[in-house]
Order: sequence, then structure tokens, then C-alpha cells
Amino acid sequence: MSKQFSTQNKQDYGFTTRAIHQGQEACPSTGSLITPIYQTSTFVQDELGKNKGYQYARSHNPTRQALEECLASLEGARFGLAAASGLAAVSIVLDLLQAGDHVVVGEDVYGGVYRLFERVLRKFNLNFTYIDASNLEAVENAITPETKLVWIESPTNPLLKLADIRAIAGICQRRRIRLCVDNTFATPYFQRPLELGADIVVHSTTKYLSGHSDIIGGAIICDDEELFSELKFFQNASGAVPGPFDCFLALRGVKTLALRLREHERNATAIARYLENHSQVEKVYFPGLPSHPQFDLAKSQMAGFGGVVAFVVKGGLEAARTVVNNTSLFQLAESLGGVKSLICHPATMTHAPIPKEVREPLGIVDGLIRLSVGIEESKDLLADLEFVLSLCSNQTQQESQSQVPVAAQ
Ligand SMILES: *Cc1c(COP(=O)(O)O)cnc(C)c1O
Repeated sequence: MSKQFSTQNKQDYGFTTRAIHQGQEACPSTGSLITPIYQTSTFVQDELGKNKGYQYARSHNPTRQALEECLASLEGARFGLAAASGLAAVSIVLDLLQAGDHVVVGEDVYGGVYRLFERVLRKFNLNFTYIDASNLEAVENAITPETKLVWIESPTNPLLKLADIRAIAGICQRRRIRLCVDNTFATPYFQRPLELGADIVVHSTTKYLSGHSDIIGGAIICDDEELFSELKFFQNASGAVPGPFDCFLALRGVKTLALRLREHERNATAIARYLENHSQVEKVYFPGLPSHPQFDLAKSQMAGFGGVVAFVVKGGLEAARTVVNNTSLFQLAESLGGVKSLICHPATMTHAPIPKEVREPLGIVDGLIRLSVGIEESKDLLADLEFVLSLCSNQTQQESQSQVPVAAQ
């Protein structure tokens, strides 16, 4: 396959250099510095049986190909596929399986992944067992002779639990089972699962990779050529491809991934430390805190800890409501990974379908709040949180005062 943009391998260059250059040579016919948006459905062929490497845009598009090549390089791999959404990417990976196959899945995977597995793929006689992926014994014990795939996220949403990717890859290699890691939260800047032994990485490029909360997109990355051809075949057969403009935006976002992630992490660390010392906060979840139970694992498999922080505010649902309804910079919204800070309440938003009796023992309590920390000035973000937490402490004080006469009666 010839390519519009030469594919000179830049694997020797550093991460940010590859993010800016890999797959993104200047256009040989016009000199366009930036990879253009090839907004076309089809490509004119030179003569019967002869074309320039492109025929129909579901199969190949130069803007998409530039993004695919760049993302593959950032994960330290040879092959990438850009998909219409993160879930489209997940769905294409699951196309590798046959009816009767079994998948071992981390119990706190993204809700949409759980829904796809349980409500769609079970109809085709695929079977799923959900385990605590931070427990290696549980992973090992869930494997059956039918298991063809292990599916994990690390860190997870919203409690930022880690799975030991190296150790799980070892288990999978011994049993000849494929390991797929959803690397959306960490991004290749902070964690490269293929280098730790995984076979496939998927992303929701909607989040940090595009980074500006302006597209829906996904990606699949692997280093095995045969596996890649299968995945490419399934994507072309079912058709969940991204449009060229979304690929352009993702490619633009990726160029500043490293810069953004350093800022996301710096702000997230400052906020996690601040919250940990706040009297109105019960608990903080952030893998970069020494108090995180898997801090050592985080340091051994991640180069940084990301930009998502979760915490439990004292005072349950009422206090959580006060926090999420009164921030001025943190916007109340689902999703994560953009330059603008977001705040959400998992118990009533992302995890609302899970019954209270099931979610509470997992840690998704009414007071839990998740922050996607953006790259605004950290002092402004801290002031925003300080203000809303002061509203909560006023609330608690008023409650305890109003309780005095009640108790005296
Ligand atoms: C958002 C997300 C997805 C789904 O991606 P979409 O782009 O919304 O389809 C999958 N996994 C994780 C970890 C996510 O955060």
C-alpha cells in the first residue's frame, strides 16, 4: 500500500517528537505542513487494477492513516486502527472471538463496555466473568479452557484501582490467552501496556488523546501483523470508522499530549494533596498519593499518574450535591481528559444503573465525587474546591447546631 505521507520510521525519536512528526510528513504534492482533512468518500483510480493506495474511504483515508500511524508509534507498536468511538474500538476487538468463547473482565471496567458485553455480545453466546483485576489469583481462577481474552483497565474509573499489567500478561502468555488493556485513563505518555506484555491496547480518543472535549473517537493498537489484519478486516466489514475531520482534531490534540498530561498531573497532584488534608474530606483516590494502596505498583508500571482524582466528601448525598452544584470552574459533566476541568457524581450519573447495595461495597458511595482535572491555573482550581467545601462545612455546622434542641427535647 503506497501512502500519501511517507512512513519513515521515527521510532528512535522521543515521544513528543513522534507525536508531532510520525505519520505526518509534509504533503509531497502541495507542501502542506499539516496533514490535510481528506474529506472524500472515494479515490479516482489511475487505470483498472492501479490506484494510489486509496480506493474507498471506509477502508483507507490519508488523514485517518496519519493518526493511526502516530498513535501506534506512541504506544511503541507498528499498527494502529482509528475507530468511530472508544466503544466501536472495543466492539472490533471482540469481533476476534467465536460463539462459545469466554472473556475474563475487570469488574470495574467502563460502564459502556459492561453494557456492550452483557446486553449485546451475550446474545451471540460470548461469556464474561467479572473479577477484581487487582487480585492476580482472581484473574487466574476465572480462566477456563474457553477463555480467549482477558480485558482490563488500569487505572479504573472512578476509584483509580490498578491492575498489575506485567503479571497479568505473564498469566495470559502461559495460557496463550490474549490480553487487551484499555489505556484511556493513563495514555501512552504515562503507561505503555504493550511494552508490559499486553497484546492489544484500546483507547477512547474522546478523552486525553484528542484532549479538548470536542470529538468522539477510538483506537486499537497492536504489534502483531496477523492480529492487525484480522482487526482491520473486521473494522472494514462492519464499518465503524471515524470521519476525517475528527481524525484531524485527534491528530492535532495528540501533538500536545505530553505537555497537557504534565499539566493535568501537576494540577491533579496538587488537588489530591489538598483534599487529603481537608477536614471535610473522608477519602481521596489518586494513584500518585503515597497513601494509595497500590502506589508502588503505580510507580513501577506508570511514568505518571494521570489527571483524574476521586474523593469522598463528608455528609453523603447532600454534601456531594452542594459540591457539584456550586463549583464555577469545574463543570458538571460526564467524560474526562479535556483541558477544561469537569466534576461528576458517579452514584447518580455514570454508575446510576448499579443498585445501591451493589455499588456501595465497591466504594461508589453517595459522597463520592470524581474530578477530571484540567489544565487551568492550579490556584484557581484549588480556590474553586475550597469554596464549595466551605459550603459543606457550613452545612454540617448548621446541622449539628439545629440538632442540639432536637436532642434536648
Ligand atoms: C469513555 C471511555 C470509553 C468509551 O469511549 P467512547 O469514546 O465514549 O465510546 C471506554 N473506556 C474508557 C476507559 C472510557 O473512559
